[in-house]
Amino acid sequence: MNNEIFQTVNELIKNKKLPHAILIDAGSACARDELALYIAGAFVCENGIPCNNCINCLKVQNGSHPDVIISDPDAENEKTFKIGVVRDIRKDAYIMPNEAKHKVYILKNVDRMNIQAQNALLKIIEEPPEYARFILVCESRAALLETIMSRVTPFNLGADDHGISNEYLQAADGLADKLVRALASVTELEFMRLTAQFEKDKELLSPVLSSMQLIFRDAVAVSTGSNLLLSSHSETAKIIASKLPLRTIIELIRVTEHFFECINKNANKNLLITRLCSVLRNTAYGS
Ligand SMILES: [Zn+2]
Repeated sequence: MNNEIFQTVNELIKNKKLPHAILIDAGSACARDELALYIAGAFVCENGIPCNNCINCLKVQNGSHPDVIISDPDAENEKTFKIGVVRDIRKDAYIMPNEAKHKVYILKNVDRMNIQAQNALLKIIEEPPEYARFILVCESRAALLETIMSRVTPFNLGADDHGISNEYLQAADGLADKLVRALASVTELEFMRLTAQFEKDKELLSPVLSSMQLIFRDAVAVSTGSNLLLSSHSETAKIIASKLPLRTIIELIRVTEHFFECINKNANKNLLITRLCSVLRNTAYGS
């Protein structure tokens, strides 16, 4: 495990300062799970640290603690983290813990929630029952709403061989901004020039789509007079809102969601990229 983070977490445990909502991202899936279970152990341990000795710790370790609830779309053979599951968790959170002083929810792959599901999740972590604790786990926080990020204490396990670095995510976010601006311009030339980058690096597709979706969402907010902007590209959102009709922007959100699902279903990336570019162009320029 990442030693620096492990030390920080142990400091928080020692000072009884573990926050009620935690996000663990980056690193390997294995390292994320390890940290999530360690923190869950600290929440339920009779000795207030994961002592690995008490009945609560032992139950966490063998996965049988009734107050440590793990929800993972992968375990249900689902590609996305569904809003219905989030609503069930919300209901369940109002039932008191069985054995421990806390009830801990480990929610895996939260980056596979759409905006509606994330907003439902936000409601729980904003005003949880006092005994409830939430550990959100995902590969990358880039797909999470800023309102969620503002409510959690994040631990980034850093890039490993299979992880995505912050620099990479920033580059993807920058490309998303340029692509969205290009969609608002008169000619398609710049858009086509930019999409050539996907041919070079297909892994860009997912983080770029997720950033684009946030910008489109903000453009809808601008169009409908809301001030609640979530992306860090409010200027771009305003440009899009002034250049494209609202129904087109809503359609663009739908398009990006559709392609997200395709990526999650492991569709052929070459075909996806070609289709995405043409669908985005037709949607924006056809309006
Ligand atoms: Zn213990």
